[in-house]
Amino acid sequence: MSTEETPPSAPTNFIQEIIDADNISGKFGGRVHTRFPPEPNGYLHIGHAKSICLNFGLAKKYGGKCNLRFDDTNPTKEDVEYVDSIQEDVRWLGFHWDGLFYASDYFEQIYKYAEQLIQKGLAYVDSSTLDEIRSQRGTLTVPGQNSRFRDRPVEENLDLFRRMRGGEFPDGAHVVRAKIDMAHPNMNMRDPLLYRIRHAEHHRTGNTWCIYPLYDFTHGYSDSLEGITHSICTLEFENHRPLYDWLIEVLDLYHPQQIEFARLNLTHTMMSKRKLLELVETGTVTGWDDPRMPTIAGIRRRGYTPAAMRAFCEEIGVTKFNSLTEVVVLENAVRADLNKTAPRAMAVLKPLKVVLTNYPDGQVEELEAINNPEDPAAGTRQVPFSKVLYIEQDDFMENPPKQFFRLAPGREVRLRWGYLVTCQAAVKDPVTGEILELHCTYDPDTRGGNAPDGRKVKSTIHWVSAEHAVSAEVRLYDHLFAIESVADIPDGDDWKSHLNPKSLVVVPDAKLERSLSTVEPGHRCQFERLGYFCVDPDSQPGRPVFNRTVTLKDEWAKIQRKQVG
Ligand code: ATP
Ligand code: MG
Repeated sequence: MSTEETPPSAPTNFIQEIIDADNISGKFGGRVHTRFPPEPNGYLHIGHAKSICLNFGLAKKYGGKCNLRFDDTNPTKEDVEYVDSIQEDVRWLGFHWDGLFYASDYFEQIYKYAEQLIQKGLAYVDSSTLDEIRSQRGTLTVPGQNSRFRDRPVEENLDLFRRMRGGEFPDGAHVVRAKIDMAHPNMNMRDPLLYRIRHAEHHRTGNTWCIYPLYDFTHGYSDSLEGITHSICTLEFENHRPLYDWLIEVLDLYHPQQIEFARLNLTHTMMSKRKLLELVETGTVTGWDDPRMPTIAGIRRRGYTPAAMRAFCEEIGVTKFNSLTEVVVLENAVRADLNKTAPRAMAVLKPLKVVLTNYPDGQVEELEAINNPEDPAAGTRQVPFSKVLYIEQDDFMENPPKQFFRLAPGREVRLRWGYLVTCQAAVKDPVTGEILELHCTYDPDTRGGNAPDGRKVKSTIHWVSAEHAVSAEVRLYDHLFAIESVADIPDGDDWKSHLNPKSLVVVPDAKLERSLSTVEPGHRCQFERLGYFCVDPDSQPGRPVFNRTVTLKDEWAKIQRKQVG
């Protein structure tokens, strides 16, 4: 494909340059009117978010307008469920459309355009089979052959077309084709199909129609009818542009300008709606909003923020060449946003019980904890401290190597917002040797975490008071695909064999600090030292479920470094 070549020196804001030039020349009278045109045949994904941010963003920047238009020309694959989810997703990303349209709104008008083309001798009814049509198309190097129906008289074409609409013929009996040039070097110009018969119920027009216009035939006319100025689409439509222009020019209609940009591809991320649908239908994921899905619904449930999505789209920019963006760029955008906005809390995923042997039985202290060091306005909260605590199993080692500075026998560490504690003994199961609990002492003079004598401890660990702990299920997500370049999986390959078997790890009984007992689904926070988390709608009263949105650091890079080193 012409689009896979080395990057030309196109500036990243080349679309803005085109608009600026148009505004200077007065091409569209200074207007900017874009549109986002999804087909309602699936849920929107992160790639669509790029197109949404681009189209709505340009309208905003230039004080113009942006429509949401459903390209609903394919009745058998489309559904109102998708129409609804798409609207919800665009709103969630923070955008408001000026006009809400459906290509099906234009079916009558587009039918009339087809009749006009037939009357001008620029379209004909072809009664060949689809196989015949395909076999006559030629190749990139071999010209196609004219259909034996190509020179049908105008009156016969009109009569057949009207009877197609009237429902006289079964699916596949006839098609309408543009009469352009079967030897055209651009295959899209070799008498492309405009209409096909399809006796299928449409989610909006019901059974009004049994013929449906094809995408290429509908799209430009829809743009034209809405007064779109810049019709922005992805690169694979570059060689459809001559047809887009031809269809509008031959009928002398208002002519928007089509501009192509490179679609977003992300490592470890599947962007094909068809394959995402297959993951849903085979139960490989729990639904379109499974937090591992790259859908807007999925990342929303996972805890991604609209601001992070917009910042990400801004950062990657717009280019004319296809490339693969590291998913870590997206994750870093999420981290950057949540770092500023997510309140901190303490949670222990793999609990190890700690008994403070010198702490008074039954005593509870309320310690002051800062909610977000990045945001003083977020204030403070009280965290209960008592004799029995939980810490992470990983924060203790009986025989620590040199680089391990956390808890170990005889070692002192700081409990976040609390006291300095020293490990006196590990209590073990006499049979299995498993560590059951730690016996530690605390230094009552170190409340807040500092020793009056100025002695230093190397490490601060998080903890939760056992008697105040909230039990929760925590779902740890990782990339859905283990393979980096999902788009490169050859067709026909068993693409599902590249799924990451560890994309979900469930922690059934994590221990959370008291302040998390009342959080609502959608609440986002940072579990200190562990990552950013978001409350899932599966939560029950008194039994929250948390999704890990993203780790604090790029764990994947760490794993790869380890494998290399
Ligand atoms: P389909 O295979 O169903 O056509 P699609 O991803 O092209 O899938 P559309 O509903 O046609 O889905 O897409 C709506 C808009 O979003 C189009 O303008 C399309 O170019 C754009 N878009 C789709 N995928 C991406 C992507 N990965 N990056 C940027 N834009 C995208
Ligand atoms: Mg498409």
